[in-house]
Amino acid sequence: MTLHKEIVRRPSRRVMVGHVAVGGGAPVVVQSMTNTDTADVAATVRQVRELWEAGSELVRITVNTLEAAQAVPRIRERLDVQGCNVPLIGDFHFNGHKLLGSVPECAQALAKLRINPGNVGRGAKRDEQFAQLIEIACRYDKPVRIGVNWGSLDQTLLARMMDENARMDRPLEVEEVMRHAVIASALESAARAEELGLPGERIILSCKLSGVQDLIRVYRDLAARCDYPLHLGLTEAGMGSKGIVASTAALAVLLQEGIGDTIRVSLTPRPDEPRTTEVQVAQEILQVMGIRSFTPLVTACPGCGRTTSTYFQELALNIQTWLRAQMPVWRGRYPGVEGMSVAVMGCVVNGPGESRHANVGISLPGTGETPVAPVFVDGEKTVTLKGDRIAEEFQTIVQDYVERTYGGQGTGHR
Ligand code: SF4
Repeated sequence: MTLHKEIVRRPSRRVMVGHVAVGGGAPVVVQSMTNTDTADVAATVRQVRELWEAGSELVRITVNTLEAAQAVPRIRERLDVQGCNVPLIGDFHFNGHKLLGSVPECAQALAKLRINPGNVGRGAKRDEQFAQLIEIACRYDKPVRIGVNWGSLDQTLLARMMDENARMDRPLEVEEVMRHAVIASALESAARAEELGLPGERIILSCKLSGVQDLIRVYRDLAARCDYPLHLGLTEAGMGSKGIVASTAALAVLLQEGIGDTIRVSLTPRPDEPRTTEVQVAQEILQVMGIRSFTPLVTACPGCGRTTSTYFQELALNIQTWLRAQMPVWRGRYPGVEGMSVAVMGCVVNGPGESRHANVGISLPGTGETPVAPVFVDGEKTVTLKGDRIAEEFQTIVQDYVERTYGGQGTGHR
C-alpha cells in the first residue's frame, strides 16, 4: 500500500537505528517495549522475540540495574543465534551514565539509547551525567532518543520557565507553560547533545503526555520547530478499549498531518493479555489510515436483528485470526498480500455491495433469507456456497486467491 494521498509527511532527518531507518521519508516504524525483568535473560529474549514476530521493528528494554546492563549483551547474543535481528533500545533513567560506563558491552549491544532529560540527574550533576551519556553514545556510534515525559519533566527547567512566565505582562496558564517546558526540555537537550559532539543525524525526539489534546498540541509545535525524527506515543494510555481509543485518537490526528516517524502504543495489558497487543494496535492504526499495510484486514458488519445466529461473527473472527496466523509465512512467499482486503457480511442488505469492494468477500444469509452465501472475488460473483462447510470452503477460496494473485513475485493483483 502506498501512502494515502491526503498525507504529506513532515520532512525530517534520517536516523539509522541498527538496520532500521527512522525519519527522512522512511516508512513509519512500529516499536514496543518489554515488561520483563531485563536481568532475566530467558524471559526477556522470549518476549522480545514475541514482539518481533508480531511485527515490532524496534524493541525497547529497560536497563535499570547492573544485572540488567550485564544481561543486555547476552540477550543480544541469544536473539542473534535465534535469527532475531530486531534492534534493541536501552531505556535509561537516573543511573544510565554509571551502568553504561561500567558495562561498555551493554552500550555496544544496543542499537539506540533512550535518555529522559528529566531523569538524568539532579542539580549540578545533571549536566555532567547527561554529558557522560552523550559521550558514550558518541564513542559507540549510537543514536539517542531524547524522550521527555510529562510525568518526569526536568523540574529545574520547569521552575525557570514558571518564573519567567510570572514576570510576563500576561502570564500563560500553568498547563501551557508546562507544554512549553516539555518542548524546551527536548530541544535544549538536543542542542546540548549536538554541542557535545553527537551528530544531529543520531537524534530522535519524543515528548510524551497522557492527555490527547495536550499531546497533539505539543507535537504540532515540536514538529514545526525542528527537523529531528519524532517518536510518537501517548504515555500511560491505559487499559483495554480506553487505551486503544486514546492512543488512536492522538496518533491519528498527528499522523494525518504527516507528523511521526516511529510510533508506540503504550497499553497496559490485562493480566491475561499478551504484550503483543500493543504491536497489533500500532499496525492497525497505520493500516486503517492507509499509511502502511501489515496483514490482510477483514471488513465485517456489526450484525443486527437480521443475524440472529453468531455464525457470521465466528466466521469473521476465524478468518481474521487465520489471516494473521498465515502472515509469518505469507510475508515472504506472497509479496503484497498484506494489502489484501476480505469482507465477511451478515446479510443481503449491505453484504453484496461491501463484498464487491473487497478482494474476496462473502455475504452470509440473514434471518429468513435463502441459506446461501454468494462469494465475490475482485468485484465479481464467482460462486454461491451452501451447507455446513461454508467457513472451510471460503477459507480455501481465500487461500487460492492469495496463491493466484500474490504468488509468482506478487504480480497481477490490483
Ligand atoms: S449487513 Fe445485514 S446483518 Fe449486517 S448490519 Fe447490515 S443489515 Fe445487519
